[in-house]
Amino acid sequence: MTPFRGTSTQQEAIPDAAVAAAADVMRSGRLHRYNTLDGEPSVVSRLERAFADYQGARYCLACASGGYAMSLALRAAGVEPGAAVLTNGFTLAPVPGAIASVGARPVLVEITEDLVIDLDDLERKIARTGSKVLLLSNMRGHLCDMDALAAMLDAAGVVLIEDCAHTMGARWNGRLSGSFGLAGCFSTQTYKHINSGEGGLLTSDDAAFMARAIISSGSYMLYERHGAAPPRETFETIRLETPNMSGRMDNLRAAILLPQLASLDDNIDRWNERYDLIAARLSAIPGIALPQRPDAEFYVGSSIQFRLPWADAETARAFLAANGALGVELKWFGGAEPVGFTSSHHSWAYIEPQDLEQTDRILAGLFDMRIPLTFTLEDCEHIARIIAHTASQTSLDGAA
Ligand SMILES: *Cc1c(COP(=O)(O)O)cnc(C)c1O
Repeated sequence: MTPFRGTSTQQEAIPDAAVAAAADVMRSGRLHRYNTLDGEPSVVSRLERAFADYQGARYCLACASGGYAMSLALRAAGVEPGAAVLTNGFTLAPVPGAIASVGARPVLVEITEDLVIDLDDLERKIARTGSKVLLLSNMRGHLCDMDALAAMLDAAGVVLIEDCAHTMGARWNGRLSGSFGLAGCFSTQTYKHINSGEGGLLTSDDAAFMARAIISSGSYMLYERHGAAPPRETFETIRLETPNMSGRMDNLRAAILLPQLASLDDNIDRWNERYDLIAARLSAIPGIALPQRPDAEFYVGSSIQFRLPWADAETARAFLAANGALGVELKWFGGAEPVGFTSSHHSWAYIEPQDLEQTDRILAGLFDMRIPLTFTLEDCEHIARIIAHTASQTSLDGAA
């Protein structure tokens, strides 16, 4: 078996148009979002307008990171210290971290074998804790039945905030991820769907919520210079009552993002070509289980997940090592120690320990691979052949 020589951490270059726009910002010296010439909208404001339009949202705020967007959303939604906030038992560390950053308590909800939040467990935990907020993590780009979720939350009076770090551009029944609740939180960190190194975007249709978020993000009373903000009246008392916790985006990042937003939908097609190819090959391999993706879900295949439900920890480690030796960089979510990422609730020692038997069982056999656009379709074929080979070797070794 020829080893694969590519690397899943290598993203595409920043497009020339974005490099040129960034150079323009640097030549102007006006990097701060409020450092504008008379009447000219800043680049950050233009990005906010463009992303609000893309999402079909009334308002948008660009900020420092996806994690910051989530903590801002929780604060602007009025989450108080000590409050219980529901979230997925399988997500990335910035999600429970955002809840902890406002002094609230994460209540973790089980996931299903399709890697989405378990709506039955969610219903039980809403009843048990009386929590009024769900920070839903569309982890690794998987969407739960958003219609059923919205109906349940509506009936229970629970506010929905969506973590769309892996679902920018994804849809459920034609409706964009991030538009189902009070707010959508997006990341523009290098490994997400548009890349400014670091960055976040928060969207909402709620004027008072967005006014609180804007003031909180550090707007120095310059909220009228925002690109997709509520009218000035909304800020009348909010501007005096809301503490400043600076976390603004700068013009340099916004300049890098604007041209990428214009090519997002084309890139989604390219991701899905690669995802669908790998998924087709993996689903033909005995012993490998792929999460079911319902017809209502339009996903963005920027990463792929699969399970070896039969593998114990030793087998999983052997499978991981065999792939690594052939150049295929997989992540395994069942390890006892967090390696390079922290998606196991057992490694969040700052929260109350929680019993998530179903989630733990699923994570024990769960593998993940990023699909950067630097992979060609031939690369994807090659990777799938390696995984097929290592899976058969591992199961043979296991049986012997
Ligand atoms: C990356 C990520 C975020 C946000 O990350 P930042 O690095 O703070 O931009 C949020 N949720 C998930 C699931 C992520 O993977």
